[in-house]
Amino acid sequence: MVITNFSGPQGTYPCLWCLMPGRDMHYPCDQCSLRSLESILTDNSAFVRHSSGKKEVAKFHNALHTHLLDIELEEVSPPYLHILLGVVLKHHKLLEDAAHDLDT
Ligand SMILES: [Zn+2]
Repeated sequence: MVITNFSGPQGTYPCLWCLMPGRDMHYPCDQCSLRSLESILTDNSAFVRHSSGKKEVAKFHNALHTHLLDIELEEVSPPYLHILLGVVLKHHKLLEDAAHDLDT
């Protein structure tokens, strides 16, 4: 599956579909470049040929591994479970903070 190409959600470019840096994810993706299966393969090849190790993977848009299946990015579903877990966790923390504020 293509999604396993990347070094992980803590990488500089964690999104499968675009090249928006993770630190900017809270802004709209108006001008970020989109990825394609071909661009991911090109980045991974360049990483394999030109990097001196995993620490440089951000220079190659975090394309750390080769993919398992040729699936175009438009056909890959978003990781709904992980997105939902993140939203629920954020909501829970906000509720917890509000409860602590009521206690004080
Ligand atoms: Zn994106």
